[in-house]
Amino acid sequence: MKIKGIEHIGIAVNSLAENSPFWKHVLGLDHSRTETVESEKVTTEIYTTGRGKIELLEAMGEDSTIAKYIDKRGVGVHHICFEVDNIREAISELQENNISVIYDEPKVGAEGYLVTFIHPKSTGGVLVELAERPV
Ligand code: ZN
Repeated sequence: MKIKGIEHIGIAVNSLAENSPFWKHVLGLDHSRTETVESEKVTTEIYTTGRGKIELLEAMGEDSTIAKYIDKRGVGVHHICFEVDNIREAISELQENNISVIYDEPKVGAEGYLVTFIHPKSTGGVLVELAERPV
């Protein structure tokens, strides 16, 4: 697969209202958008840094994967996302190497990217997202 760079780092927060001022005002990052991703039951605020983005993730409810993550592991870095040129090829290549991906068929994530995740058991404990930029 062809990795084009780090697209963003996803950070689980309890409250966007409480946490976003650090990113917005202390670091002075540009807030590019706020979006709800129904498939993941999260509200996300995306900040641009110049190279790679920061994606703050707030659960939309108790059944959100982010709520479950915070219950188990607390707030903080949740995943690292790499941009790939072709996500379906990347998924096939991983599966051929017996590495399990969370979505066999990519889902539409924030900003319209096609995304899947590689399970942390295959990566040394890091949840890795792969994303293909929409055309
Ligand atoms: Zn992400």
